[in-house]
Amino acid sequence: MQTIDPTTEAQIDAFDRHDEGAVEDRLERASRGFETWRERPVTDREALLAGVSDVLEANEAEYAQLMTAEMGKPINQARAEVRKCARVCEYYAENAGTFLQDERVGIEPGAKTFVAYEPLGPVLAVMPWNYPFWQVFRFAAPALAAGNVCLLKHAPNVQGCADAIADIFEAAGFPEYAFQTLRVGDETVAEVIADDRVRAVTLTGSVAAGRAVASEAGAQLKKTVLELGGSDPFVVLDDADVDSAAAVGCQSRTYNSGQSCIAAKRFVVHTDVYDEFVDRLRAEMAGLTVGDPTDEETDVGPMARADLRDDLHDQVERSVAAGATVELGGEPLDRDGFFYQPTILTDVPTDAPAAAEELFGPVAAVFEVDSEAAAIDLANDTDYGLGATVWTNDRERGEAVAREIDAGCVFVNEFVTSHLELPFGGIKNSGYGRELSGEGIREFVNRKSVWVS
Ligand code: NDP
Repeated sequence: MQTIDPTTEAQIDAFDRHDEGAVEDRLERASRGFETWRERPVTDREALLAGVSDVLEANEAEYAQLMTAEMGKPINQARAEVRKCARVCEYYAENAGTFLQDERVGIEPGAKTFVAYEPLGPVLAVMPWNYPFWQVFRFAAPALAAGNVCLLKHAPNVQGCADAIADIFEAAGFPEYAFQTLRVGDETVAEVIADDRVRAVTLTGSVAAGRAVASEAGAQLKKTVLELGGSDPFVVLDDADVDSAAAVGCQSRTYNSGQSCIAAKRFVVHTDVYDEFVDRLRAEMAGLTVGDPTDEETDVGPMARADLRDDLHDQVERSVAAGATVELGGEPLDRDGFFYQPTILTDVPTDAPAAAEELFGPVAAVFEVDSEAAAIDLANDTDYGLGATVWTNDRERGEAVAREIDAGCVFVNEFVTSHLELPFGGIKNSGYGRELSGEGIREFVNRKSVWVS
């Protein structure tokens, strides 16, 4: 497995896959270790997680540089990602015990009835490259706090990040078995899922990857959590603050160079403010600094891999062939690296790729609608259901529209992002299950009902 710097196209490193023996060692270590780990008091596990937060904070610059080198994230966003990982570790260090406390349920006088939350065992995590630290910590912090142990199969292009994360847990004092990486291909993932020692699977990535992994886990009757893509609507109603909407919309569409599952992707704009919004969005997106992601001033870096850039351009070209108009950009950048111009498409037919597929790069598709009802219909006209945004100066109206949108989260007049305290996940093709908050830590546990008469 090679890691390639997407800015320079130069190889950074090469890694050998783990052979059968190495995979077997890791599975056995995880399985045996789990029996010890599950017996440790939750306060011990919390204290270790607090230590992980310290290691992350102490080495923020190093980890940020690694992410930026391997997948091209702008450096200030990479540092923010490391800090968010530190916060999720702190959050579960402070709250895991409360989330996992036995819950008393009064049913019959004289009987003690309660729900206990017990770990499942080794959990396999199949993870993507777009937030190479955050996606892993978002899963691992609650899973470890709950008493599970983790096996990480990371994306091939971020293997340096995978190793760095394993080193972080070790440096914080976690036993070696608690968090291990598996450097394997998809065929071996299927074998690992089928192994009795692995008790559950989580995946963040594309719909195709989710279907494949969930099918394999389903055949083995193993629990899965899937966090897949999105084609999030960004609804701008006739009474919206258009300047704020355009500024936040631009940020949402282009953060992480547009490679985010909860980015605003389809801008659904009321006809009364449509022209003004397109003008403001064009000004915002044209004003972005695209370039070297190690530069503090850069807003948009390269896409993580050449094939991702090429696929995105293919989606843009097919959308234009179907009738879309290019308002801005529309081409890869003519320079080294896998850069794509910030792009705006209008007049997009609803069956064109920019409407019907996920666009995982800095390309905004803007649609014009003539009523609130039409906005809601178009917002929901997607196979996905991850996040959504509504812009209006009327909070009650915003809340009412939020309730009509089919998505795992809806933010009114606010940038959509994950918050530690809120469940995060999707419906429809965006997946199922929830991460973060108390809901997240209870995904990979046995909710055991106990009745003592
Ligand atoms: P993938 O979904 O293919 O990759 C994500 C992870 O899943 C990787 O570790 C990958 O490993 C693994 N994976 C993929 N297929 C299988 C399989 N059959 N069995 C086991 N593991 C599998 O994403 P890509 O990198 O190819 O990106 C393609 C598109 O996916 C993007 O353009 C975007 O639309 C979407 N995506 C969404 C993300 C999100 O945050 N929701 C994150 C990343 C991508 P390997 O590469 O070794 O197959």
